[in-house]
Amino acid sequence: MTGEPLVRAQGVTKNFGSVQALRGVDLEVFRGEVVCLIGPSGSGKSTLLRCVNHLEKVDSGRLTVDGELVGYRRARGKLYELREKEICRRRADIGMVFQNFNLFPHLTVLENLIEAPLRVRREPKAQVVDRARALLGRVGLADKADAHPAQLSGGQQQRVAIARALAMRPTLMLFDEPTSALDPELVGEVLDVMHGLAEEGMTMLVVTHEMGFARESADRVVFMADGAVVESGPPGELFGSPKHPRTRAFLSKVL
Ligand code: ADP
Ligand code: MG
Repeated sequence: MTGEPLVRAQGVTKNFGSVQALRGVDLEVFRGEVVCLIGPSGSGKSTLLRCVNHLEKVDSGRLTVDGELVGYRRARGKLYELREKEICRRRADIGMVFQNFNLFPHLTVLENLIEAPLRVRREPKAQVVDRARALLGRVGLADKADAHPAQLSGGQQQRVAIARALAMRPTLMLFDEPTSALDPELVGEVLDVMHGLAEEGMTMLVVTHEMGFARESADRVVFMADGAVVESGPPGELFGSPKHPRTRAFLSKVL
């Protein structure tokens, strides 16, 4: 891994009132890397992802995506807060997949995939539709293009959500517990799609409780607790010989 990391957090803090959700997070994700973020509930994993995707503002510290400070632009040596339009433009390069799919219920599967590329990127429709169909094939749902989300299983909906994120040709994919809302028998089909993406070299930051996925697909696993990174390393190391007692205590419960 060389060059500037695609995501770099340095001493990032975020408070919600008196709750310190992030207390100085340091994290780097390099291009082509798959980083799994693990840790107990309330440790700040979602907040960190939401900051990366401009859904929350950091209070202090430095957060950059692709070398650009999140939420700000620099002009004539000064920093200016981004306007909503500029935030949308930057967010368009980041795909995010949530626990609860968040598909547009009134649109068909194909319409879900083409909406943002048409509206945000203003790409030609034929090209967008072709790419959407190819993506549906890739997640094993070529025959569901005209279905509505409610007609699909949770696993199928989540695969559509992944395809929809990919339709924007993102440089970074964020996943926030993408399989946590699924029946156990549907988890595998979603993890398979994510594993395929990882193999193809997509840069991914994945919050997950699926330690098998982390072990197989992650280049690095980052353990967070109480709003900070406690320890990180290659999965073999972190799972095999965790150094910090907090990490050991957490892993003894989930492995
Ligand atoms: P995780 O994803 O690791 O479970 P979160 O990032 O969701 O953790 O939450 C970290 C802390 O911040 C928790 O104490 C949570 O209650 C708090 N928190 C997160 N979002 C908000 C919010 N919008 N308003 C108030 N508190 C929040
Ligand atoms: Mg969370």
